[in-house]
Amino acid sequence: MSIALESKVRVRFAPSPTGTLHVGSARTALFNYLYARHCGGVFVLRVDDTDAARSEDRHEEAILEDLRWLGLDWDEGPDVGGPCGPYRQSERGAGYEAAAGELLASGAAYSCFCPEERLVELRAAAHAEGRTPRYDRRCLGLPAAEVARRRAAGEPAALRFQVPAGDIVVEDLIRGAVVVGRTPSATSSSSARTGRPRTTSPRSSTTATWPSRT
Ligand SMILES: [Zn+2]
Repeated sequence: MSIALESKVRVRFAPSPTGTLHVGSARTALFNYLYARHCGGVFVLRVDDTDAARSEDRHEEAILEDLRWLGLDWDEGPDVGGPCGPYRQSERGAGYEAAAGELLASGAAYSCFCPEERLVELRAAAHAEGRTPRYDRRCLGLPAAEVARRRAAGEPAALRFQVPAGDIVVEDLIRGAVVVGRTPSATSSSSARTGRPRTTSPRSSTTATWPSRT
């Protein structure tokens, strides 16, 4: 997917339609809105309905109504469309799947077939020893033929980034150079057993499991 975006400010607000609009979320929306309008940028509304069990249309409608009541309007969103749609996460699966395929093909990511119980044990062992939990990269060593066979058989697999060894330095506008990693086995996981996105920050290592929210 390639979308030509001008180098202007793009901010997005991504509420989860699992309940009514939280006041803290309203604050975030307001600040994003004001920043976008101040900079002549674009304010995007994307509905984060990845929690299929708890997301409801009526909550989405109520949240949009509350945002309008606050006097906010958005340039792109599920109700107004835009060049980067669809604007509901649940409708973006095909795009994520294509991107995941590109990551696998380029070697930037690899398949992990570890069952949840094993990951729980790894985390527990790390906590018991006072270490930060990290995935041990066991599945990185699987033969390509075995990976292909298991994927073809439809075995659930998560996608893990094959992060290069060494430190990762992120230039943060406020905090300056932020260094993440410092271990040769730093990995973070993305994507999903379920075909939907699972995201973790480097700070939280590989421990987040979609769709649980922490
Ligand atoms: Zn694994």
